[in-house]
Amino acid sequence: VLLLTVPVTLGVIGLAGWYLGGIAMQPIRDSYDQLQRFTADASHELRSPLSAIISNAQYGLLSKSHDIEAQRQRFGKIFDVAKSMNTLVNNLLLLARHAGRLSSESLQKVDLKSELVQIADEYTTQEAAKHLNLTYTLPTGSVIVLGDVGLLRQAVVNLLDNACKYSPAGGQVQLRLFTQSHWAVIEVIDNGIGIPEADLPHIFERFYRVDKKRSRKTGGYGLGLSIVQQIVSAHGGHISVKSVVEKGSTFQIILPLK
Ligand code: ADP
Repeated sequence: VLLLTVPVTLGVIGLAGWYLGGIAMQPIRDSYDQLQRFTADASHELRSPLSAIISNAQYGLLSKSHDIEAQRQRFGKIFDVAKSMNTLVNNLLLLARHAGRLSSESLQKVDLKSELVQIADEYTTQEAAKHLNLTYTLPTGSVIVLGDVGLLRQAVVNLLDNACKYSPAGGQVQLRLFTQSHWAVIEVIDNGIGIPEADLPHIFERFYRVDKKRSRKTGGYGLGLSIVQQIVSAHGGHISVKSVVEKGSTFQIILPLK
């Protein structure tokens, strides 16, 4: 664990430093205020896991105890925190790299139907999704858009992750694809905990969480939806949400058809 943890941690800290340095020097789209808030939020989010890593490592180094189990637990804690920081930093990098732009080399014809089938099949085998019943409704023909297949998959996976995180055991999640005039429409529908009306306008903001405690328990940083929104708008599309507390949520992505 130590051999794994040290490079992971150093890598994460290095990437975080690079990213935060980069964003301070390259204010591409965001206004100065937004940028300042984002940098402050990102630093804040990185600070508490870093403190946990430092204090656990320091305690381990200074301790004279020969209790192997206690040491193992400490390394386990460091490992878990570093892994979660790794996710956060990857998400920050994703946001920074694709700030409203798609590189022309990454654009290709994407058949959303076959991508969604693959995503749903892969998703249902994951441990985290085992408590859910995932079904999908697809059109008979293919649905082609022009885009970056990796990013489009990431957008759908983020919505499925949320449907999964915010639904109790036995929850129903539906993945739907259809076309409407010149648009491809993807819907992720869950019958989970829902989102209060007052929070709906904010959930696509970076680091916004409806209930901080609740999201902490599920490990969220409040970045998933802002990433989805960024990906969708970079593809010339739009994302919207309808939700009722205790009833569930419907996230809808529309993308221009090729
Ligand atoms: P997080 O990592 O916290 O899940 P997101 O940006 O993906 O961050 O979502 C922002 C917030 O929106 C979440 O913290 C959660 O409160 C709420 N949310 C998102 N999707 C759902 C959903 N399907 N059901 C209920 N609440 C949701």
